[in-house]
Amino acid sequence: MRDLSRCVHHPAVSQEGFASLAVPTCRASTIVFPDAEAYANRKYRGPDGYSYGLHGTPTTRTLEAQLSALHGAERTVLLPSGQAAITVVLLSVLLPGDRVLIPDTAYPPVRGFCQNYLRPRGIDFAAYDPMIGAGIARLMTPRTKLVWLESPGSTTMEVQDFRAIATAAHAGGALVGCDNTWATPLLFKPLDHGADFAMEALTKYVGGHSDLLLGSVSVRDLGLRQTLKDTMRMLGIGISPDEAALALRGLETMGVRLAHVGRVALDFARRLEAFPAARRVLHPALPACPGHAVWSRDFKGASGVFSVVLPPEVEPVLGPALSAMRLFAIGASWGGTRSLVAPMTVAADRSAVPWTEAGTILRLSIGLEDPDELWDDLATLFEALGAALPG
Ligand SMILES: *Cc1c(COP(=O)(O)O)cnc(C)c1O
Repeated sequence: MRDLSRCVHHPAVSQEGFASLAVPTCRASTIVFPDAEAYANRKYRGPDGYSYGLHGTPTTRTLEAQLSALHGAERTVLLPSGQAAITVVLLSVLLPGDRVLIPDTAYPPVRGFCQNYLRPRGIDFAAYDPMIGAGIARLMTPRTKLVWLESPGSTTMEVQDFRAIATAAHAGGALVGCDNTWATPLLFKPLDHGADFAMEALTKYVGGHSDLLLGSVSVRDLGLRQTLKDTMRMLGIGISPDEAALALRGLETMGVRLAHVGRVALDFARRLEAFPAARRVLHPALPACPGHAVWSRDFKGASGVFSVVLPPEVEPVLGPALSAMRLFAIGASWGGTRSLVAPMTVAADRSAVPWTEAGTILRLSIGLEDPDELWDDLATLFEALGAALPG
């Protein structure tokens, strides 16, 4: 072989005895075959065979298998973001004329996708009261092919009666999908409660360091997996092994991170209830949270995200008070090592159950900083807000 050829041929080295604890990052577009016959027969390599980098590498397959094990799933597919994971489920199930039901409290871009992408293409949707339970049966029509859940609900934290909704949805001939990002499979396993699709934004707790975007969908039915893979293949969607490697690393510490932020967040939620500027604290472990009893029945614990409804009177001082926070950063997304606060309004995204609170909602994501120092930051904020209240 001459030098120019040597430049592009990587010599094979022994992998024997290389027992690293880290999963190797395998990059590929092209996959080569040992002979012409193997290439001609590549489509018979089966759903787990390697054919093209877009459709899977040992790195992405490792992450898929690990998530499947955690969810009690047969297979998992990986998507470039949590939002992509949701839209690919919807696109793989729904045909023109069909209808999907989404909770009023769904992650807002889901409603946007239904309204601005699906509806113009002849696929209808309706938003339902997240607390509807078995009453979802009243909304089922012969064209309802998918019922989506997100529990607890985005920002306002309503916990859904999963079993009741899934049973009624299946009785009506629909599939059931769930956004399980808040709980992760460590705190709730949707497939054990009747879901056909368990979706996660790995961007949040699995990644855990605010440096990657990924989504996953786990299923027990191999036919559903095939439909998801076919949809992804046609759309040309796959993920980078570098993101998968970061997610595999994040997953290793997720259990201890989640236990810590869950404990600190609940402690803060309880303490905030005493502050006049915390009009309502929305945390599933607090008895006043809608669906608290269902949460106690179905979930193993709480993660580190909860919300506080503010009285409208604090509005004039809210901006400066938030900007003065020392440890909490202001930003969306969550589930990383840094504590975040995001001022939210939800009324415009609610159609089934109008949101009647006039004040801003602060969504808090607790991170890994020193808890006492974090609490000082939070207490200072709520004291400053309280000073703006009349009396
Ligand atoms: C962040 C988030 C998503 C979307 O995830 P991306 O990876 O940011 O697209 C979906 N659902 C929930 C509940 C989320 O918090």
